[in-house]
Formats: sequence, C-alpha cells, structure tokens
Amino acid sequence: MDYQAVLDQVAAEVAPHVGRGQVASYIPALAAVDAGRFGMALADVDGTVTGIGDWQTPFSIQSISKAFALALVLAQDGESLWRRVGREPSGNPFNSLVQLEYENGIPRNPFINAGALVVTDRLQSLTGDASTTMLDFVRAQSGNPEISFDPAVASSESEHGDRNAALAYFMAAYGNLDNPVPTVLEHYFWQCSIEMSCRDLATAGAFLARHGLGADGSRLLSAREAKRINAVMLTCGTYDAAGDFAYRVGLPGKSGVGGGIVAVIPGRCTLAVWSPGLDAHGNSVAGVAALDAFTTLTGWSVF
Ligand code: GLU
Repeated sequence: MDYQAVLDQVAAEVAPHVGRGQVASYIPALAAVDAGRFGMALADVDGTVTGIGDWQTPFSIQSISKAFALALVLAQDGESLWRRVGREPSGNPFNSLVQLEYENGIPRNPFINAGALVVTDRLQSLTGDASTTMLDFVRAQSGNPEISFDPAVASSESEHGDRNAALAYFMAAYGNLDNPVPTVLEHYFWQCSIEMSCRDLATAGAFLARHGLGADGSRLLSAREAKRINAVMLTCGTYDAAGDFAYRVGLPGKSGVGGGIVAVIPGRCTLAVWSPGLDAHGNSVAGVAALDAFTTLTGWSVF
C-alpha cells in the first residue's frame, strides 16, 4: 500500500470539510486555535510513519488522554478496574451527571469524564504521579522527548472545572475515589493538557495496533487487554456519537475536543487525525470525514 498516495487522496476528499464545525470554546486556550488546520498521520506496525498536512503540529490531546490512562491502569492492575467503572456506551454527553446517581457512583465507561476520573484516581494510587506517568509513557512510545504539558490549558481547565469537580465529589461520596478529589482533578487536567502532534499520537498509540507490544518490542499489555481497550474505544470512544462513528469509520477510535482522533486498525497501523472544527457531539468534523474516507478507500475497517 502506498500510504502517501492514500493520505493525499484522503486530504483531497476532506478539503471541503476542513474549517467546518465549531472550535471548542469552554477555555480560551482552545478557542484561539485556527479551525482551518488539518493533519493526518499513519504509523504502520513496522514502525514507519507517513503524514500529510499539519501532521507535525502539536495540539491539545484532551480526552485522547483517556485511552492512554486506561492502557496504563490495565497494564499495571489488570481487570480489577472494572469493579469501579463500567464498559457500556453512555448515550449521554461526556460530562453528564445523571447516570451516576442511579448507578451508585459507578461511571458507565472509562471514556466519559466520570469514568476517566476513576481511572486517573487508580493511576495516581498505582504510580504516585498519574499525569507525569502518562507524559513519560507517550514520550517513550512516540520517541519524542519534546512532548509536554501546556500549563495554560491545564490551569484554564482547572478554572473552568466545576463540572468535573462535581462529578468527582459525587463519586467520592459513593466511595469510588481513593485519593483526595483535588489531587485527582489536578492530574486529570494535566493529562488533558498534553500537547502532541498527529505523528506523536499515531506512534504513541501503535501498541494498540501491535496487540499490546510497545515501540521497543516489549510487552505493555497482553493481546487480550489490547483487544479489550480497542473494543471499548469502538463502543465508547467518540462521545455519544460512537454508533455513528462505527457506522461511518468502522474502527476503534478515541477523540478529544482539541480536534484530534486516534483510530486503530489492529495488526496493521494506527491513524491520528487533527482538525479543530467539532460537530455537536465534540468530534472533529474533518477528522471523522478523513477516517471515513481512509477506510472506504483502503477497505481496512474492522468490518
Ligand atoms: N478537559 C476536558 C473536560 O474534562 C476534556 C474534554 C474532552 O476532550 O472531551 O471537560
């Protein structure tokens, strides 16, 4: 497969969608991003990386961090996490409070904010520094030591974090957080603030396409755990539009409100795409269109 030719064709097909949608505006640092950016990268399981457009420009990974957090906890702790977090799609917005009450403080899945807060809490207990553990992990897997937090985004998240605080205190009231709420929130906001490019994300996520093997060939996750993370990404990874994402793209994927999406083709490659204009669910308009075009052109959806 001539990846460069495929990405060129994807970019040409997607060009009319770039700039569509709304850039996330809940914090000033994200609202200032140019909606007209578009980049895409493909990391083959053999280690080669191909990209197009703004594929080397760092952006705020936001909720894509939730996939790395889940992987880090499953790698260290195995399946016991599932006693504290479910794995069903929520059908509600990512920051919803409503299901928590009638499900006794157990979030529906690890990719809504409530679930990610529990995963971060567990990572904090396991490592003593959840957000730095994640930063070290993505640096090592991508081979890019320059990846860093964006302190302006992290502090802005904290200033506008009342809703996440409400989720965390509510779960703490049910005994579903082990660390103090402010500690969990701080690490959650810092992990959301990590800046990575499409190149960084495709390479850092490649262990999910390599059935759990890391960049240096060492085993990060069992093949079974990698399968499970991909399954949760397929069913819950793209907010309350995971059904539509599966319908259009047909791949496990995790999106963030910075406009990035990471998608996995198990056994072949990992894709990362970035374009900041979001649809009403919080997924990148051009990003979803690009992944749709890619799987249509190549026939490489999991279906
Ligand atoms: N930091 C954001 C929040 O917790 C994450 C948004 C997202 O990418 O879903 O509200």
